[in-house]
Parts: sequence; C-alpha cells; structure tokens
Amino acid sequence: MDLKKTIRTVPDWPKKGIMFRDITTLLQNPAAFKELCDTLYERYKNEAVDYVVGIESRGFILGSVLAYKLGVGFVIIRKPGKLPAETIKQEYKLEYGTDTIEIHKDAIKPGDKVLVVDDLIATGGTVCAAVDLVEKLGATVVECVFAIELPDLKGREKLTGHKVYSVMIFEGD
Ligand code: AMP
Repeated sequence: MDLKKTIRTVPDWPKKGIMFRDITTLLQNPAAFKELCDTLYERYKNEAVDYVVGIESRGFILGSVLAYKLGVGFVIIRKPGKLPAETIKQEYKLEYGTDTIEIHKDAIKPGDKVLVVDDLIATGGTVCAAVDLVEKLGATVVECVFAIELPDLKGREKLTGHKVYSVMIFEGD
C-alpha cells in the first residue's frame, strides 16, 4: 500500500506557510495503521532494545504499539508539568521562543538501549531535545524513528551521530 496516500495534508495549519501532515487519516485506516506498525516492528524485531521512548503526543501512538510488539517497556517524554515524579528537563528552540520537554529521572538507566519515536521530524529540534534527555540519563539511542520526515527542514543533519529512520518522506516543505 502507498502509505503516503493515507496522510492528509492541511495547508496553512496551524499557521500560514505550514503544510501540516496529518497522520489521523492513516490511523483511521486499519490496513495502513497495521502496515506502518508492522514495518517498524520488522525493522527492530532482532535489535537489542530495552525501551521505546515516545514523544508527546503523537509519538505515544506509534511508540506504544512498537513497544508492545517488541515486548519492551514504554517510556514517555512529556510537555512540562505533566509528569508526577522527579524529572529532568530539556529546553529547545522553536521558530519563536522556546519549549521544554521532560522525562522521569528513574524511567531509564545507564546502559539501556532505546528507540526514540515521534510521528514526524521537521527541523529536528524536538527529537534532539528528547535524545539529550535520554543521554543525560546515561542510556544509548539505537535509532530515532518517525512515520514522516520532511527532508527540506534538515532535521536529520541536526541529529549528527545518531541513526534516523522514517517510513514516509514528504519533500518540498
Ligand atoms: P521539529 O521539532 O521541527 O522537528 O518538529 C517536530 C514536531 O512538530 C513533531 O512532534 C510533529 O508532530 C510536529 N510537526 C512539525 N511540523 C509538522 C508538520 N508539517 N506536520 C505535522 N506535524 C508537524
């Protein structure tokens, strides 16, 4: 199946000039959702992985399915103020201003091998901050995993030294 055809593109959302790649239409389509999840599982089924780390909020959808299929734990990275126990935080740059994400301090430990999952990589700012959090806890990132990559925004280059895998590529953004 051509999974890209199941993605809805919404021009000028959430603001002018953004081509929003909406995965909800893929998720609604059972064959497409299955194919995406199976593709990720097939890639990592023989890999030594201790945890899948999902980035709020669409990273939770694919990440938790992948963790379940791999038989490993699922760890969440959230926007500030949502996690109840002790956390570490990482700030990152947005087009205007900054944002912060955080992870529970005891979620992963030194030596753990993790996959970091989000729905989409654009500039790479969000995933870089997530990788920093994982590495601050002493764990190793096996690969950063996305349903969609927007190569024109060069997020992959920001992740130097880390492996990046994306299932669908949308050029021209
Ligand atoms: P970035 O930090 O620039 O790589 O942006 C990645 C985050 O923003 C991901 O969590 C995406 O869900 C969201 N995002 C950025 N650009 C888009 C886009 N064009 N369509 C859908 N989601 C986007």
